[in-house]
Amino acid sequence: MRILFFLLIIFLLPLNAHAKLIKSFSDEVVRQTLQTVYNQCRSDTSGKVADYIPALAKGDPKHFGIVICTVDGKMYKIGDTDVTFAIESISKIFSLALALEDAGRETILKNVGVYHTGLPFNSIIASDVREVILQNPLVNVGAITTTSYINGTDSNDKWRRELDKFNLFAGRKLTVMEDVFRSEAETNQHNRALAWQFSSFGYLKGDPDDATLRYTRACSVGITCKDLAVMGATLANQGCNPVTGKQVVKKEFVRDILSVMTIAGLYDSTGPFFFRTGLPAKSGVGGGIVAVVPGRFAIATFSPPLDKFGNSARGVKAMTKLSENLELHVLNP
Ligand code: GLU
Repeated sequence: MRILFFLLIIFLLPLNAHAKLIKSFSDEVVRQTLQTVYNQCRSDTSGKVADYIPALAKGDPKHFGIVICTVDGKMYKIGDTDVTFAIESISKIFSLALALEDAGRETILKNVGVYHTGLPFNSIIASDVREVILQNPLVNVGAITTTSYINGTDSNDKWRRELDKFNLFAGRKLTVMEDVFRSEAETNQHNRALAWQFSSFGYLKGDPDDATLRYTRACSVGITCKDLAVMGATLANQGCNPVTGKQVVKKEFVRDILSVMTIAGLYDSTGPFFFRTGLPAKSGVGGGIVAVVPGRFAIATFSPPLDKFGNSARGVKAMTKLSENLELHVLNP
């Protein structure tokens, strides 16, 4: 009898662990919620595809996909989840992962900061009055400075290490979208100005143009909504990729990355976004957003039309509805 009881416990343990991941929701409820939210958001045609980087203007405004990836690697998908798009600003969180490992938490705190600037993501004023309005790794100047702290024997080696890191997060080999990179590199004078300004303050390490170019390359990496969900789920899973089982970033830095996402992940609408969803997230002007439910799963959305803050309009709506329906606010456990 005792043995039978013991066997029953052993058998039930994994089920219990899985139940914990999706809380009180069955597979069916998650699937249905995804379908409902997708239908509710698909008809929203608000927003405008980014065109300040010419290659991004080619984005199809109809594209829309959502993927949930759990910390045990289970995926729930709907819509355009295999379309490749430029990772753009979302790259900043994965570059930060490598810079934290290479240079340490204190270097990033001291030279980049983790402040909400209160000004646009590419504001030259924000960095000019740096002593008053400090920076963070998710505004452009902060991300370029963060990139400058990535180690390597030369520029190529630094970039190779960065792309390797992205690959580990995605669990597959990613490639740069060359048309996006060329278009962005030809029009990135503003970012170069930011980098030179920060270099003149003594915060940026090495050649500012080199850091800007590597940052631009990182923004041009092509991903799908599925990749983004796996990358996010790796953060939800304390840095261990749930699909490959590899530890991708040291556990101790995951909370740093999630903290920065919480304070600055959605440009100037991070406050209202967190207020509604309660989730650390990061968006990019390519139309992607990733949100992390620590210890449970990640949600990735893709839809190119952006709201006035530069976040995917359908993405923000879908994240908000999913968080409400599945009760995901991290401050309301
Ligand atoms: N590469 C873009 C830029 O530097 C990224 C912008 C974004 O996604 O926020 O402007």
